[in-house]
Amino acid sequence: MEPTLNRPLSTAGADPLSACVHCGLCLEVCPTYKLTGDENNSPRGRLRIWREESAGKLGADPETDFYTSECVGCLACETACPSSVPYGEIFEKTRHMHVASGRFRPKFELRVSAAAVRHPGLFNLALAPARILRNLGLLPHRFFFPGRPAVLESTAAYAHRLSLLRKPSGPRVALLTGCLMEAMFREINFATVRVLIENNVQVIVPQDQGCCGALHEHTGLGNAETLHARNREAFRVSNIDCVVSNSSGCGYALAKTMNGTPPVRDVLQFLGEMGIKPRSTSRGKARVYVDLPCHLIHGQKVDGIPPSVLDATGYEWQLAPCAKDCCGSGGIYNIQKPENAREILAKKSAFLNDAEGEPVILATSNHVCMMQWNSANSLVERPFQVRHIIQLLDPGEDALLGS
Ligand code: SF4
Ligand code: SF4
Repeated sequence: MEPTLNRPLSTAGADPLSACVHCGLCLEVCPTYKLTGDENNSPRGRLRIWREESAGKLGADPETDFYTSECVGCLACETACPSSVPYGEIFEKTRHMHVASGRFRPKFELRVSAAAVRHPGLFNLALAPARILRNLGLLPHRFFFPGRPAVLESTAAYAHRLSLLRKPSGPRVALLTGCLMEAMFREINFATVRVLIENNVQVIVPQDQGCCGALHEHTGLGNAETLHARNREAFRVSNIDCVVSNSSGCGYALAKTMNGTPPVRDVLQFLGEMGIKPRSTSRGKARVYVDLPCHLIHGQKVDGIPPSVLDATGYEWQLAPCAKDCCGSGGIYNIQKPENAREILAKKSAFLNDAEGEPVILATSNHVCMMQWNSANSLVERPFQVRHIIQLLDPGEDALLGS
């Protein structure tokens, strides 16, 4: 079945607020309801408040603002809803309205980031010192998982260099490199390029691409249409099979922008469908616990990571307990509402204390979730690593060029 992300999202007609039939099936999947037990802090409660406000029965008041701001934006309620209430669209519009009228104010660092990512070249340059420090292991912050990003070489240049050496001849894809991903975590982009090329995929990295606009949608800050228009132009690369993304949140935002032309695919789904070369190295007693990003399963609405892809890592793996529950990241939630986000993560990560394996690896497919999971190192008593699943498939440059 074609993933929902490549089709128009709204299914509830002219008045989506009235599509809710109050069944309550969304309550048990909502992280803020599970945390508080407060009906107003649930999808059904928020929809009722917004509906009454829109009908003029309820004035704009701090309580409404509070309950709106408490939503993680995980979209689990959309998946659970039998009436196809387009909660994500409603929430996004409400947040934009609250920002425009001054009822919600994103934190300073989010406002600065939202302005900065509009200029990807400058953003990359400004974060070069942070890349150097991270590369040297000298950037201690709970969100910065260990990694060694290239400081100067871009993913576009790297893909070009490797393609000239390996000359892949199979399917042709364009890679979304992202803004924060490229500026801070580009070692994951490099691993993605290597895995694709090893599997004979031709990788194009359009240099004019920019931010997908997800940050602006999460924060409600400004119109992302100029960002969308830029990407529509950049990804109209002739003769590609699809755009691939290694970040489920960015992939979801870009898919809404492209509206199916060309299709946007999560890179792990793409590799699962084409068949992937397995890793053969021994992984010893290591054990991988796989967590599923909300914007993959509830946004892009795919079932999960293909088991054939996870088998191809060569690791013993299993789904993390509550793998479909939100980790509290929510795009910006762990910055905007850090206490709530930490409480959600504490519950979800507790299993790691008794997890089997040496080392224990928590693997997922969204860099923002990876940042949130890395912060669980101070909640969990045993050490564990945070990795992107594409990194577990990575042959490494020497093996790729030597083979
Ligand atoms: S998006 Fe997530 S946090 Fe917000 S109401 Fe829905 S389930 Fe709850
Ligand atoms: S599951 Fe859907 S219809 Fe039922 S209460 Fe939640 S939003 Fe309303």
